[in-house]
Amino acid sequence: MTVTSARLPRRPTRQIHVGKVPVGGDAPITVQSMTITKTADVEGTLQQIYALAAAGCDIVRCTCNEPDAAVGLAQIVPRSPIPIVADIHHQYKMALAALEAGVHGLRLNPGNIRKPEHIKAVASEARDRGVPIRIGVNGGSLDPSLYEKHGGLTAAAMVESAVMEMRYFEEVDFDQIKISVKASNVPLMVEAYRMLSEVTDHPLHLGVTEAGPLPGGLIKATAGIATLLLEGIGDTIRYSLTADPVEEARAGRQLLESLGLRERKNVDLIACPSCGRAEIDVIDVARRAQDAFADKQLPLQVAVMGCVVNGPGEAREADLGIAAGNKRGHLFVKGRNVAVVPESEMVESLVEWATYIHEHGVEAAIARADTARAEREAQRDRSMLLEAKGDDANDAQTKIVEIRRTVSGDN
Ligand code: SF4
Repeated sequence: MTVTSARLPRRPTRQIHVGKVPVGGDAPITVQSMTITKTADVEGTLQQIYALAAAGCDIVRCTCNEPDAAVGLAQIVPRSPIPIVADIHHQYKMALAALEAGVHGLRLNPGNIRKPEHIKAVASEARDRGVPIRIGVNGGSLDPSLYEKHGGLTAAAMVESAVMEMRYFEEVDFDQIKISVKASNVPLMVEAYRMLSEVTDHPLHLGVTEAGPLPGGLIKATAGIATLLLEGIGDTIRYSLTADPVEEARAGRQLLESLGLRERKNVDLIACPSCGRAEIDVIDVARRAQDAFADKQLPLQVAVMGCVVNGPGEAREADLGIAAGNKRGHLFVKGRNVAVVPESEMVESLVEWATYIHEHGVEAAIARADTARAEREAQRDRSMLLEAKGDDANDAQTKIVEIRRTVSGDN
């Protein structure tokens, strides 16, 4: 059986470039994040940017909230491995300073830079420099007149805010735009992006704002972003988590990989949920495997399964897997048993085999193994386990008999 992933539809959008990174059109959907250092701290910010790039971030945003931040940007931009977007709130002059610093993009919040002449001054300068701007509408900071007009925070109010800003940009002939309409309420955010995608073909930047700490923030952000991506809406994404921004980049990357929207870069770790039949502490082994693979760029699917009875079959599509049996780890490559290792070496062996497969391919990995012997041993451990635990690993029959006896009072 071969598992194939369906190609998702993609709403056609125009393409812009943030530095060298294309956004929109047929460009791959990109991952963004934001530094949490003071932008004036050049070395600290660059360190974070490098960590973000290594975790799969394509475009990074830094705040430009004071003159020292703009000075910092002038030194960060030439040394950054990925394009830099300056985040601007309130002071349009900081947008002009960021452009002077050479940033690859700006983010303006229409809710707090409201004077048309200021907006147009920034857009004209960005136009002359060929720098794109994101119209970053945020449900929490709309122009008060829009809340009033729409009777509170609504999807229509957010979309109207974006459209008003677009009109100012059009007046100065500026069209290098991407747009976001973020809210912390997931259904509201989804509705706003759906509405927005009906009225513009500028590329859209998706996000659930202030999603919060893990794991709730991850769930909220994924619910909103994935819903829209599955409808073909969205050209670039950001997880706004109350966490190390590297977690945001990892989450964004993993979401796109799991939807088949970006090529796999890191290990896709699958693991069984464990059950009464498990021969090892699956949660612990899976966690250790996750840590061991975290910084290795091995685009493979790796499975950790709690027992040899069902493990190899259930994970037969994985490039590599390990299943526990009789205190040993049975390694399999594309469903073929290839080796048996002591339980204490399971994670180490997975990393070694994954590295080999990445460098030499699946066929070579199978060819170097004594598959007949590995299969014999796996079969033996499988039979022993079935004999010891039978089909009823959770011992439900005994419990049922006990419950019936208790209920009938037959003691
Ligand atoms: S039967 Fe085996 S592989 Fe399946 S959940 Fe239980 S321990 Fe994991």
